Amino acid sequence: MEEFVFQIGPIRPPSEANSLLLRVTENCPWNKCKFCMLYKKNDFHTRPVAEVKKDIDTMAEYRDRILAYKDGEDWNMPAVQADYETLLSDDARMCYQMVFRWLTEGDSQAIFLQDANTMVLRPEWLIEIVSYVRERLPEIQRITSYGRANTLAKIKEEDFRALRQAGLDRIHSGYESGSDKVLELIAKGTTQEEQIIGGQKVRQAGIELSIYFMPGVGGRELSEDNALETAKVINAVNPNFVRLRTFVLRTGSLMEEVRASGNYTEATDMEKLLEIRNMIAHIDPSKAKGRITSDHIINLLQEVNGDMDTDIPWMLSYIDSFLALPELERKKYQLARRMGFPLDWKQMYRLKESDQTYIADLAKNTVDDAAWEALLHRFMDRYI
Ligand code: SF4
Repeated sequence: MEEFVFQIGPIRPPSEANSLLLRVTENCPWNKCKFCMLYKKNDFHTRPVAEVKKDIDTMAEYRDRILAYKDGEDWNMPAVQADYETLLSDDARMCYQMVFRWLTEGDSQAIFLQDANTMVLRPEWLIEIVSYVRERLPEIQRITSYGRANTLAKIKEEDFRALRQAGLDRIHSGYESGSDKVLELIAKGTTQEEQIIGGQKVRQAGIELSIYFMPGVGGRELSEDNALETAKVINAVNPNFVRLRTFVLRTGSLMEEVRASGNYTEATDMEKLLEIRNMIAHIDPSKAKGRITSDHIINLLQEVNGDMDTDIPWMLSYIDSFLALPELERKKYQLARRMGFPLDWKQMYRLKESDQTYIADLAKNTVDDAAWEALLHRFMDRYI
């Protein structure tokens, strides 16, 4: 009996957590960034278009099958469960669950094309896939994909326009830094010039651009350069979204070798925040009008969100109000946040009293700076 399965890749941006996931390529064609530990053990492959289209058909079949159990706003859950139990394999059950979750709790109008750099596919193949998604899943309103800056810079303007026409809505791109020195240090395999050329072409084709930056990735030595050159790229590209991913030197990553070379010092948690402030202060609101978001637990101040054309003064004053806190209050919040506290420092009273006492004692008693950073790092090392 035929098994109804489709491939599911490992990673998607947090903002696509509720999207259906369509695996178009496998792993990363570059796979050399020193901070990245995602695909190091896996080789890159493109998937044949026919195979991807078959996956789209399977998704559509599951969608129809599951929607048959919906009556108005209600789901016939015993029937869904019985149907689920007829599936022959764990893989088929996982696919069914994914479509069910997408229809019931997710964004049933969004799909994300995996894995790390789908834009590397020949444009005509990608156009065929995007068009087929629109045909078989007509409820989809947003199709998004990852694309490396180096790849984006090579794609022709007319191909971007054709992709937009076919229905590609947004490209997510891990720029990480706008500084050539930092890009070389982390082996990102791209340059500031390519970032600007690629980003501008995406925007001119009417495709939304969401770019990711890693404050702190250049270490203490390149902090100023990282902030200023990143702001320069943002001003030149005017992306729709700038997403912050504060850098943490992960245990086991190749950045450990960079540090061991002796020319790299990981910035402290507070220095990384100051770098974010410096970068934001150099964004020109007359040129960059998209939105800054801190949509990851790794950022110390998750409230630093806003439209670049109107909210920069607010974002700077918000950071300054945190920096103006007495040192112990700052440390208490840092620790709580690094332990996973999801709110800002004004909400610390919401923690259980026993947790507040534990955090206050630890913050008060860890006086050595290196021990303090090591303590914070232990928590952050667990984050993806
Ligand atoms: S391009 Fe992305 S997925 Fe590939 S190695 Fe770099 S960070 Fe990792």
